[in-house]
Amino acid sequence: MIRNALDKLSSSRPAQKLAVVVLCSVFTAQLLILLPLLWVRHHQTVDALIAQERNSLQNIIFLSPPESLRNTEGLINTALVGLLITDSAGNPVIAEGALPEFENLAHTGKQTSSSVSGLIDVLWFLEHNETRVLAAARISTSELLTKSMIFTVLVIFASLLISLIAAIVTLWGTNRAYIYPMAELATSLRASRENSKGNVPEKIDYPETEDLNALADEFNSLIEAQQRSSRQVKVKQQYLEFAAHHDPLTHLPNRLMFEDKLKRTVLNALENSEPFIVYLVDLDNFKFFNDQYGHLVGDKMVAEIGNRLQSMMQDIDLVARLDGDEFVVIQKNTDDRQSAEEIARRIMSMAIAPYEYRGFTLKAAVSVGISCFPKDVNDSHDEELMGEEIVNNAAVALQEAKSNGKNQYQLFNEKMRSRLTARIRMEQDLKLALQENQFEVYYQPKIDIASRKVTGAEALVRWKHPTRGFVSPEEFVPVAEEAGMIIELGEWILRTACKEIRKLHQLGFGNLHIAVNISTVQFTDGNLLPMVSKALKDTKLPPRFLELEITESAVMHDPEEVINSLHELSRFGLGLAIDDFGTGYSSLAYLKRFPVHTLKIDRAFITDISSDSDDVAIVEAVLGLGKHFNMKVVAEGVEDEDQLTFLEIQGCDIAQGYFISKPMPVAIFLAWLRKWPQGTYEVSDQGDNVVPMPPARRFGT
Ligand code: C2E
Ligand code: MG
Ligand code: MG
Repeated sequence: MIRNALDKLSSSRPAQKLAVVVLCSVFTAQLLILLPLLWVRHHQTVDALIAQERNSLQNIIFLSPPESLRNTEGLINTALVGLLITDSAGNPVIAEGALPEFENLAHTGKQTSSSVSGLIDVLWFLEHNETRVLAAARISTSELLTKSMIFTVLVIFASLLISLIAAIVTLWGTNRAYIYPMAELATSLRASRENSKGNVPEKIDYPETEDLNALADEFNSLIEAQQRSSRQVKVKQQYLEFAAHHDPLTHLPNRLMFEDKLKRTVLNALENSEPFIVYLVDLDNFKFFNDQYGHLVGDKMVAEIGNRLQSMMQDIDLVARLDGDEFVVIQKNTDDRQSAEEIARRIMSMAIAPYEYRGFTLKAAVSVGISCFPKDVNDSHDEELMGEEIVNNAAVALQEAKSNGKNQYQLFNEKMRSRLTARIRMEQDLKLALQENQFEVYYQPKIDIASRKVTGAEALVRWKHPTRGFVSPEEFVPVAEEAGMIIELGEWILRTACKEIRKLHQLGFGNLHIAVNISTVQFTDGNLLPMVSKALKDTKLPPRFLELEITESAVMHDPEEVINSLHELSRFGLGLAIDDFGTGYSSLAYLKRFPVHTLKIDRAFITDISSDSDDVAIVEAVLGLGKHFNMKVVAEGVEDEDQLTFLEIQGCDIAQGYFISKPMPVAIFLAWLRKWPQGTYEVSDQGDNVVPMPPARRFGT
């Protein structure tokens, strides 16, 4: 313990300094007081010795008979060195010794003088009964001095001892009152920190030394503040944790949490051979629902479906909301297809049950895609991949349910898998095709029906697959759209078409217009106008020669938004056409607000025009609309003369179709243009190779 205390003391520099200060101060103070006292004491002793010598001399001289004084041998000793006794008349009675040596003393009027050798010269003037004595003595003080010195040394030593004791007492006191309690406090703080294991430390007990209470108080209030803020942080963290893993509208787990749970479910399924089923549930026509009733009602609908799903699926492991109107359900411990179908039916009838909201009676239908684990997945031994696959499979099944008419369920099957595989392969092939320039732009001419003059052409992309040959754009454009590649591909098509048409202008066909198909993805991408204007600038094609064809379903997707974009494009000087008109249920109210210059009647209505009275009515109606809204009408898919004649009679402006020409590469299109109107070309059924049309089927002048 002493060693411990010493260690602490030796490590405490302030304590050491304090001890030294105490030692020095106490020692100095003692010296300051004691040394003068010793000095005085020494002098008093010397004075007493001198007085004693004088008294004994006085006694000898004045109390002894005069005869005895004659014998001065006894008198003149080591102390008395000179003696002069005179009678009342002043005559010397006795004169002995070396008085003259004291003349100096007599001269100064002093009675004593000290010398360095420890001897004091003294001159006494004594008088008794008219006898006068002058005595000179030399008194040795060496002995006294030695004694005084020894005494002084003893006193200094004692002072030093006292000072040391005072310093030790100070150190002890400091240790007891300061260092030890501080060490205790530090130990408590350390223990509190170490026990906290990274959390906020616990408060400490108050130390016995009251002086340190303030310190402990400060520490404890710091801890309290930290605990408070840590509690707040915890609440915030819990909230953030919840928000990060839950959907704010339905409070169901979100995609992030679903992915995590799915991974664990797959792991568990693999380890314990426990099957499970994934249901993807998607509201049908939710966009329409939102547009019709507003987003607030749409949100309420989604929340209601989420609630219903959750209460219905209490016995089921997870219900999560993946996207706007898409939910996912995981049912564990089964992969029985019959019971999956039963559950899917229950989900559908649950969704379709009416729902009252602010006076509206709402009904929502859902489509369900189902995939079973492990039946429907490849055993890849990677739980993440397998999880991804089962959800993708359910998505494929859901897509199937949607394209088969919605409000139904589909179980994933092998056929879907092969379609999916083919689609994935096509996506990969498309990527390669973009890199290897496997695309080409073909041109299908359009003629003015009345004058038979070529007005321009439609640019149609062609993909020459290295092994499959020509792949229809109807097959690969949707895949390119879904994979986002249509942006790059679309830009390439537009630039190529503009460049080649500009070349045809330079070759003498200066009035040719070019129509380029624009996909919905490009249209909603937000970069269409800058991309088009750059292409036109780079190829030096004036905007009025370019027409963008946008399908009716694309413009009707979000008409309010589309109106703005169309106005921007139109202001730029571009022509705008609604493609495949008649198939997308156009709202006429919107049509009149679209700054569109051309309507292209869909091929489907032209094909049977000579036999189907409904198609005739539709074509007449579209032509009427075109006239009313001052738009040109193009009939596409004109395959024979009868159709062209019919359209001419009906007053249709422009025709496009195999009867005029199939789409062709630019070089052949140039040759075709050079021969028109003297001849036209026919394309063989094997592909897009252009061969001259037999004279019987020629038309025009
Ligand atoms: P679309 O824009 O309506 O193009 C007209 C389609 O009808 C073309 O098919 C054309 O070859 C075909 N066609 C024209 N006249 C006749 C005819 O008399 N009889 C028949 N049976 N067919 C005729 P294609 O080139 O296969 O294109 C199909 C669709 O693919 C296009 O329909 C368009 O929606 C899309 N597409 C084609 N090229 C592009 C493109 O460059 N970009 C985008 N985004 N889509 C394109
Ligand atoms: Mg088109
Ligand atoms: Mg079309």
